Amino acid sequence: MTEYVRIRKEGPIHESGIAANIIEIAEKAAKKNGLSTVRRVDVQIGAFSGVEPELLTFAFSVLKKKTTLAEAELEIIKLPLLLYCRDCETDYVGESEDLRCPICLGENYDIKQGRELKVIAISGG
Ligand SMILES: [Zn+2]
Repeated sequence: MTEYVRIRKEGPIHESGIAANIIEIAEKAAKKNGLSTVRRVDVQIGAFSGVEPELLTFAFSVLKKKTTLAEAELEIIKLPLLLYCRDCETDYVGESEDLRCPICLGENYDIKQGRELKVIAISGG
């Protein structure tokens, strides 16, 4: 399964809204798959998604109570920022604030990966 999580940029801790949305997605998926308890939720978070994994884990641990995810662990898979330079046709990894192409120093790049935030799997019983 792959379900994109809505990212709303409102309030100082938007991770709360994201955690609520992850729980909502996982509960729907659990129901669909006949799971009464969810033990693990795997999410992919891009380096450029603007989400702090620590804040998300905390928000998740608070909001999961009294849901079918009460026992669930949130497994965060971080995806690096991958860029593509259109000038010299090079793929590279963005590791700093400066996202320019390391080969030609161009700023004509596309973001290929790193903005995603999605639930990729749930497991339970
Ligand atoms: Zn380049």
